[in-house]
Amino acid sequence: MRIKFWGTRGSIPAPGRETVKYGGNTTCVEIRSGEGTCIIIDAGTGIRSLGKKLLKEGVREIHLLITHTHWDHIQGFPFFGPAYRADTVIKIYGVPPTFEKLGKLLAGQMSFDYFPAEFHKLPATIEFVEIKKDGFLLKEFFIKSIETNHPLVTHAYRFEKGKKVFVFMTDNELDSQEIARVSWDEHVEFVKEADILVHDAQYTLEDFPRLKGWGHSSWQRTLEFAEEGKVGEVVLFHHDPERKDQEIDSILRKAKRIIQRNGYRLRVSAAREGRIIRM
Ligand SMILES: [Zn+2]
Repeated sequence: MRIKFWGTRGSIPAPGRETVKYGGNTTCVEIRSGEGTCIIIDAGTGIRSLGKKLLKEGVREIHLLITHTHWDHIQGFPFFGPAYRADTVIKIYGVPPTFEKLGKLLAGQMSFDYFPAEFHKLPATIEFVEIKKDGFLLKEFFIKSIETNHPLVTHAYRFEKGKKVFVFMTDNELDSQEIARVSWDEHVEFVKEADILVHDAQYTLEDFPRLKGWGHSSWQRTLEFAEEGKVGEVVLFHHDPERKDQEIDSILRKAKRIIQRNGYRLRVSAAREGRIIRM
């Protein structure tokens, strides 16, 4: 599979000179199989550029998985070019209880007072698909989901194809007491031996306890978590809108030092708009 980052930022887009390297767009990740299946995770503002590419490539079937409906995960959808093509099918997936509200909330952000093109008038065929919690087959991928610790119910996804495993887990406060839905151990089990784990690392340890209960993790805890899960590479994700490129570079340097000092087998990187991972 091939994974590409189109939006790496949390909360709100953060364009400007200080976020050029890691990107200013909100959450959007593309997954493609060698067979041509196109899966997108979340419709943050990064989905606008992805849509242009998919139109150019002539992709007519798109599978869009939504983690939750906070703005930074859906706000790009009104600008997703393929939605304006009558020959395109977009299947939008969600796990209950997100699933039940998906149509209403996506349409809500496109109601006429907010946006000129209304959701129910979009030319593309849009279908909503409910994800069963025990896992399901989407073309060549077996996909499992688990709740994260976030104020609004949010789901992480684990993609398995052949022997390769990719886990996407954002908007998750590891070992949270305030918004505990799933324990540390259950989350570790979910990410177990993933080749790549993309995980929320919006904060630093110093940000806690001030930001406890907001549903995000520090990069330090994310490292420990990934190592315990015997993950191959952890990709720090959902960068804070205030976090400058220089600061992310510095976090990465510190993270690599911790890995070396503790003898972890883990590799670490930071999600960067435009980066492609092949596995
Ligand atoms: Zn978010």
